Amino acid sequence: MLDIYFWSWLIALFVGGMIGSEKNRLLESLVICFFLSWIGVIIVALMRSHKVCPYCKRSIDKEATVCPYCQSKLDGKEEKS
Ligand SMILES: [Zn+2]
Repeated sequence: MLDIYFWSWLIALFVGGMIGSEKNRLLESLVICFFLSWIGVIIVALMRSHKVCPYCKRSIDKEATVCPYCQSKLDGKEEKS
């Protein structure tokens, strides 16, 4: 029976990683799913998407119009990665 729990956990980690990478938050998604399994997947699904600031290359909220780190104005057309 332990096998089913293990595979379920592994799939949760995988699904969480997929959603996380879509939101540009792969690493923290994997950590959350590693500890919380499917609960982590739900948390990751509810997390806000991130994008990378084209000026300072930091990960910021996808909806941000001004970078909180370098104060650059963003027009919302930045690449996700
Ligand atoms: Zn910036």
